[in-house]
Amino acid sequence: MKDLPPFHNEALADFTKPANRSAMEQALAKVKAELGRTYQLHFAGKNVETPQKLQSYNPSHPAEVVGIHSKATAEMAREAVEDSFAFFSQWSRTPVERRVELAVQCADLIRRRKFEFEAWLVYESGKSWREADADVCEAIDFIEYYLRQMLRWNSPEALVQMPGEENQLVYLPLGVGIVIPPWNFPLAIMAGMAMAALVSGNTAIIKPSSDTPTIAAKFAEVLLEAGFPPRSFSLLVGSGAEIGDLLVMHPKTRFISFTGSRETGLRINELAAKPQKGQIWIRRVVAEMGGKDAIVIDDESDVDSAVKGVVASAFGFQGQKCSACSRVIVHEKVYDEFLEKLKPQVEALTIGPAEDPQFDMGPVINDGARKSILNYIEIGKQEGRLITGGATADGEGFYIQPTVIADVPSTARIFQEEIFGPVLAVSKARDFDHALQLANDTEFGLTGAVYTDNIYKIEKACEEFHVGNLYINRKCTGAMVGAHPFGGFNMSGTDSKAGGPDYLLQFLQAKSIAEKIK
Ligand code: NAD
Repeated sequence: MKDLPPFHNEALADFTKPANRSAMEQALAKVKAELGRTYQLHFAGKNVETPQKLQSYNPSHPAEVVGIHSKATAEMAREAVEDSFAFFSQWSRTPVERRVELAVQCADLIRRRKFEFEAWLVYESGKSWREADADVCEAIDFIEYYLRQMLRWNSPEALVQMPGEENQLVYLPLGVGIVIPPWNFPLAIMAGMAMAALVSGNTAIIKPSSDTPTIAAKFAEVLLEAGFPPRSFSLLVGSGAEIGDLLVMHPKTRFISFTGSRETGLRINELAAKPQKGQIWIRRVVAEMGGKDAIVIDDESDVDSAVKGVVASAFGFQGQKCSACSRVIVHEKVYDEFLEKLKPQVEALTIGPAEDPQFDMGPVINDGARKSILNYIEIGKQEGRLITGGATADGEGFYIQPTVIADVPSTARIFQEEIFGPVLAVSKARDFDHALQLANDTEFGLTGAVYTDNIYKIEKACEEFHVGNLYINRKCTGAMVGAHPFGGFNMSGTDSKAGGPDYLLQFLQAKSIAEKIK
């Protein structure tokens, strides 16, 4: 294997450059011509068509079908696990260097088709060009980062050597892993979890979100083209009820790598904990779940910069990020100033179809999400004071106005529950300590940010703000692989720290070997 250059983050595209704009326009036109095609399942080394179909839609133009996917039956899900289990003995013994080479190839293929993948994200998940670009770059970053980490675990630090013995520790893969990603980072999170499993030597069954199966199908195409053996992974499209529970509970399932909501994560954790007949291990669950992320704005801070950070964190991708800011807690001395400055900036945000780069915000993912968000907005209007927004926005897509509700008490539902849309609750704090107390008054603990110029308060926040990802004087979204290992505390999940140096350990088990020297 060739020596690899050190990891570096994939550069984001500058869409003010004519070359990038025209490449993206061409990709959008190419992909548009491919909308509405049918896709097969992939398991047990074969592609399979079924009569039952699941369709995905463009949330900017809900009548437009993006992909038509065969749905897996319970029987097929069972066969996928059995075959993945059978192939594990072969795949797990494939030399690490070979698995790494395939991963490098996979990252290269996505890099070459970057704008095309971005176009699929625009059409299927409603991401703006910039958000789609960030998603694809993050997918490449996860793959490039994990393959290098696998090389590190393959030659671990030497152990203490006992006199008369040779002592070593080797890291082995676990077995069959079920990879269950959300729709909101349908390429990055799916590719990250799947590649972590595969490069570590596990076989992986990818069950994508029903909202974004086409992006998963495109990723599966790339895995095959890169040279991953057809039996090393499966792509099973289908509902949680029909195949999800079955995959999670199958006795040959060794681990589940999940990212999604608190409700689904807790359900999977519970189902996975119960041993089934013939099961000989405790299933491992890596579950990254929701957030109710807060930004604290102190009186000793640059309020203008805080307003910018809040707008980007709360309304980027319509607030549909687990890291999105959904609560701002502001020191009473700058509370009115903050709201005055925030309102015009939120009202300046433009909303329209994701494929048109002139708009700041696109649609939310589907009609169900729109209804649920609007319901929260109505609740919020009772719980606080509507500053701006509060309704749907014009157009055929699932649009919602960016909404700000002030004077929200910590007991309010919009202060406590994850809304996953462009809705921001603003609350007043008596002082910095009170602000931190309010920020921690949640069962979640994913991201958080603090704006203050006071170093003692920064120290205090580092100690007391109980979140997995804390940011000081910057926005709370936009974690970069390698720099901001990602994962939350409490009900935000198992703190897996995706994109961090310890992540792959969750896909491996260590074996200690001591040999007596003759
Ligand atoms: P979701 O929980 O509805 O679905 C997540 C995945 O679980 C989907 O693929 C879905 O099909 C699958 N699923 C549902 N029921 C299942 C079952 N019974 N068995 C197996 N699989 C099942 O979440 P979502 O709406 O796709 O994503 C949004 C959520 O994800 C938000 O709560 C967000 O905060 C969270 N999220 C967290 C992180 C993180 O790193 N912590 C990152 C992104 C998103």
